[in-house]
Amino acid sequence: MLDNEFIMKTYGRLPVTFIKGSGAYLFDVNGKKYLDFLSGLGVTGLGHSNQGIAEAVCKQMNQLVHVSNLYSTEPQQILAKKLSEISLGGKVFFANSGAEANEAAIKLARKHGKLKLNGAYEIITALNSFHGRTLATLAATAQPEKQKSFLPMPEGFKYVDFNDISAIKKALNKNTCAIMLETIQGEGGINVADVEYLAEVKEICTQNGVLFIIDEVQTGIGRTGEWFSIKHFGIKPNAITTAKGLANGLPIGALIADENTSTIFEPGDHASTFGGGPVICAAAIKTLEQIESNAILENVKKTGTYFDKKLNGLIEKKLAKSIKGVGLMKALTLAKENAADIMQNCMENGLLLNNVKSDTLRFLPPLIIGEQEVDLAVDIIETSIKKEGL
Ligand SMILES: *Cc1c(COP(=O)(O)O)cnc(C)c1O
Repeated sequence: MLDNEFIMKTYGRLPVTFIKGSGAYLFDVNGKKYLDFLSGLGVTGLGHSNQGIAEAVCKQMNQLVHVSNLYSTEPQQILAKKLSEISLGGKVFFANSGAEANEAAIKLARKHGKLKLNGAYEIITALNSFHGRTLATLAATAQPEKQKSFLPMPEGFKYVDFNDISAIKKALNKNTCAIMLETIQGEGGINVADVEYLAEVKEICTQNGVLFIIDEVQTGIGRTGEWFSIKHFGIKPNAITTAKGLANGLPIGALIADENTSTIFEPGDHASTFGGGPVICAAAIKTLEQIESNAILENVKKTGTYFDKKLNGLIEKKLAKSIKGVGLMKALTLAKENAADIMQNCMENGLLLNNVKSDTLRFLPPLIIGEQEVDLAVDIIETSIKKEGL
C-alpha cells in the first residue's frame, strides 16, 4: 500500500484496499467479500455499482458537465424542486459536502441575526454534536477533543447538553441568532433526541425569532425511514442541511430553507463554483427517483424493525446492553469497552461496521438490505462478541 508514503495521516485507516462493490457487498484486492454495514459512512444507500445511477451520470457526462452557478442547468432545477417538495417547501442552496452545507446554514443564520435581531450572531449547538471539519463547522461541533489542536475557534457558538431544554433556555440570550441540532447525533454515538425536546426547541425559536436549523447530513434521504428525520420527529425547522446519502456516493451538500428563510440570502452573499453541477444533480435525481420507485422508505422501516428484533436477541443472550437509533441508523451498546476489537474481528469475518464509541458499534447499512443481510450481519456480530469475550 502506498498510503504510508503518500497519504496524510488524518485517519486511523484500516489495512484494506477495496477495488469493487456490488449492492450491499464490497470486494478487496485479494478478492475477499465483505457485507457493507457502513455504506461509506451513510452514503451509498442504494448500494454499490448502482446501474441506474451509473447510467444517469454517464449520460450527463456526455451531455454537459459544468457551467458554474452564473448560469442555470436543468438537472439543478429538477433536483431543487424535488428536494423542496420532500422537505420544507422552500428553496435550496447547493454545496459539495455536509460541512459546506452547514457552513451555508451558519452564514444564513448570521445574516438573519443582522437583518432581524440587531446583529445577533451566536448559534447554540449541542455537546457531542458533529457538524463538520471546516473551522466554522468545527466550532459548531461541540467536541473539545476535535477542536483542541486548532484553537482558537471562530467565535459565536454556545454549547449545551443535548436533550436538555433548560440548558437551551439558559444559553439563549439577545445575541442568539439560531439553534442548530441533529435529531439523532450520528458521530456522537447515535443519541436520539426526545420528541418533546425538539418540539420545545422549535417553540422557543419561534417565540424568540431565532432560526431553528436541523443538520440532516446523516439522518436525511431515507436513513430513518422518512425522507428527512424531521418527519419522524414531527417538527418543521426553518432550515435543514443534507449531504451524505443524496447522490449515492458522489459529493454533494444542500441547504434547504423554508419560504421565508430562503429569502435571507441575496446575490453575492454565498457561492460555490462546483455546487449543484449537472452531473452530481443527475446522480441525486436518480437517487431520489429510485428511493421512490423502489419503496425504499418502507423497506428501511421494515428492515429496521427486523434489525431491532435480531439485535434484541443479542441482548437477551446477555451479549450486548442496549440498542439505539431509528430506521437503518443504529447502534449497539456493548457490555465492555471493546468495540474496536469487535469491529476488527467483524471485518476479518467479512462484515464492515464502525466503532463510534469505545463501547458502541454503529450500523449505517445500505437502505436496500433485507432480512437475509441482517441475519448474516447479526450472526457475524454474535460470533465476534463471543470471540472477543464479554
Ligand atoms: C458527516 C456529517 C457532517 C459532515 O459532512 P462532510 O461531508 O464530511 O463534510 C456534518 N454533519 C453531520 C450530522 C454528519 O454526520
